[in-house]
Amino acid sequence: MAEIIFIGTGSGKTSLSRFHSSFLISTSRYNLLVDAGDGVSKALLSQGIDCTKIDGILFTHLHPDHYTGIAALIVQMKMYNRKDQLDIFVNSELVDVIKNFLINSYLFPERMEFSISYNQLNDNNQFKINDEINVLPRQNTHLTPISELPEYKRHSFSCSSFLLGVEDKHIHYTGDIGNKDDLLLFREFNPDFLITEITHINLSDILDSLDEDNLAEKIFFTHISDEDGERIEEFLTCLPDNLVKKFVIAQDGLKIPI
Ligand SMILES: [Zn+2]
Ligand SMILES: [Zn+2]
Repeated sequence: MAEIIFIGTGSGKTSLSRFHSSFLISTSRYNLLVDAGDGVSKALLSQGIDCTKIDGILFTHLHPDHYTGIAALIVQMKMYNRKDQLDIFVNSELVDVIKNFLINSYLFPERMEFSISYNQLNDNNQFKINDEINVLPRQNTHLTPISELPEYKRHSFSCSSFLLGVEDKHIHYTGDIGNKDDLLLFREFNPDFLITEITHINLSDILDSLDEDNLAEKIFFTHISDEDGERIEEFLTCLPDNLVKKFVIAQDGLKIPI
């Protein structure tokens, strides 16, 4: 049976109780890690997940809490004598950044016993990872404010949210977003699950969007800072019982059958 395993549920702030946000989609034939920020190797280790069993890594964007853990993770794979190809899935504008990051970490392809396959994602083009998993990327507004800085015009500011198709279920993963409109990016698909970050939006924005749209059957909060506890509790206590059941505050290690 397929499942989602929350590897980290923290925000960009380093925390002793949550690793940075990342989760694993595990099916009978494929393990897809979604985001791999700083410390992801230790997060996997602490949950007893063998890093050599990860088949592919999908990236939302290039803030350090979402991608810089990949170099250390590949070092672990190398030390555990991985032989199987590793797939990387990332927006076409960011492929070279990841490649160069690994080369600049002295992870030269000639010196590795496994190959890395780079798969370019493009907006609104569904990418089929295998028969069980596909991903539909769409840009969100998380990086829009910094994309307007004239000195950095040459950089890519790609930041994706994903609709993940896993067997017959649809999961909307917001990644990091910019405003409440981003919550509705995949509304026409009526996702079964919404995994939403809560650092860059107000929890009341989720309620406002719920007025407009069902959003999803179940809504998981992630990207949670240590000081968010009170904010979430206040939010949940104001809700009617039928709505409270819709929300889950994700913790590191939480497993959800799909
Ligand atoms: Zn983040
Ligand atoms: Zn971010």
